[in-house]
Amino acid sequence: MDNPIRTRMAPSPTGELHIGSLRTALYDYALAKQQQGQFILRIEDTDQKRYVPGSDTRLLQVLKDFGLNWDEGPEIGGQYGPYIQTERLPIYQQYLKELIDKGDAYYCFCTEEKLTQAREIQKAAKKIPRYDRCCLKLSPQQVKENLANGIPYVVRMKVPENETLIFNDLVRGEVKFNTNDVDDQVLMKSNGIPTYHFAVVVDDHLMKITHVFRGEEWLPSVPKHILLYRYFGWEMPQHAHLSIFLDPSHPGKMSKRYGTVSAQGFLAEGYLPEAMMNFLMLLGWNPGTEKEIYSLAEFINDFKIERLNKKPAIFDRKKLDYFNGIYIRQLSSEKLFDYFKKFLPQASDDQINILMPVLKERIIKFSDLVSSTKFLFEDLDYSKELLLKKGTDPKLAIEMLTQAKNLFTDFSNLQTRIMDLIKQNNWNTGEFFMVFRVAICGSEYTPPVVDCLPALGQEATIRKIDIALNKLLN
Ligand code: GLU
Repeated sequence: MDNPIRTRMAPSPTGELHIGSLRTALYDYALAKQQQGQFILRIEDTDQKRYVPGSDTRLLQVLKDFGLNWDEGPEIGGQYGPYIQTERLPIYQQYLKELIDKGDAYYCFCTEEKLTQAREIQKAAKKIPRYDRCCLKLSPQQVKENLANGIPYVVRMKVPENETLIFNDLVRGEVKFNTNDVDDQVLMKSNGIPTYHFAVVVDDHLMKITHVFRGEEWLPSVPKHILLYRYFGWEMPQHAHLSIFLDPSHPGKMSKRYGTVSAQGFLAEGYLPEAMMNFLMLLGWNPGTEKEIYSLAEFINDFKIERLNKKPAIFDRKKLDYFNGIYIRQLSSEKLFDYFKKFLPQASDDQINILMPVLKERIIKFSDLVSSTKFLFEDLDYSKELLLKKGTDPKLAIEMLTQAKNLFTDFSNLQTRIMDLIKQNNWNTGEFFMVFRVAICGSEYTPPVVDCLPALGQEATIRKIDIALNKLLN
């Protein structure tokens, strides 16, 4: 193909990959694969102050964990590398020089103090703080002298006055900007490292990117990018600014105060990559049908830019749980076993084989296993009152547990034998099970306790009953 579709994912290593960025990567990936194009990964690490050590490696890993392998990028290289921005500094210098020579960018020698002062004055006058363009007035001779004297500088772009810039967003349609609202953006910082705005334009062009998907928080940056493309005489890739995620249970954007927001965090909680992907597909895109369950291959086939939604996407964690449940139930026994093993590393293979059929239908996410099976691996503390929660007489509770204890010489037909014992003694079933459940699990909310007993074993079962008896006797 002459002009293949080329999309790119350009995360910054400033922390864990946000779940919104994972959705962006998914749409990038789907469009590229659908059109037999390429999906490129580029690490945008120009903001050194915000760099979080190790997060670059983790970004790559989490994309792989979700099955979004890139065609060009870190680790594998490609025709348009390097794919890490700090390894591309000479390239940016060269293009920056071009802009300075043409008069579209200029040196700025203003000190931080001076800039702060100017900003304060503008704020006091209720104006939007912008660079006052003081250095634009310097004569070529003064600039030369300043440079020769080694005065630190940044390079700024020259923004034309009072011009309307029109931009066609693939999601939002026509968007207009007035250049009076655009600051003379710093393109190169005093340390010789470009800012995001400059590097992103140079790289998207040089890497022959045809479509840019990114979060709508980047929309205000568009006029700066339009101007840079114009100064260079380059064609601008098509852009789609994707809607933000809203948390239905709390006003505003999704926040980590109300649950994880990182792609890795969801995996750590035991959401399946396939379920997450399916959930994200429908967060900002809709097929126009009732179809909800999508494999990656089906999504690649059906994805259409025209069906991206403008409205904010509601990140409904209950819906995610629903998808996760569906995908968990579809796992093969081998895969299910591996997940149980991963989340319950202290469990033996035998224990897992007992627990799997009991818990498979109940778990929403695999991390639930940890709390619901804790009693198998330790004796949890609880109060005597909890044993008697249903108003049971302590003497009766002692009687119940003492008789029940005799049942565990073997573990066959447990359910029937327990029910027989209850019947023989004319006990209340609910009352018996509250005492028994708390004695075994240390909690009133537990998985089906009798089914879990074989995983607990005779010795531990009897020990736990003895602990409960001790509490009741004291
Ligand atoms: N490096 C930016 C970020 O991590 C990407 C913005 C873009 O895709 O242009 O948010």
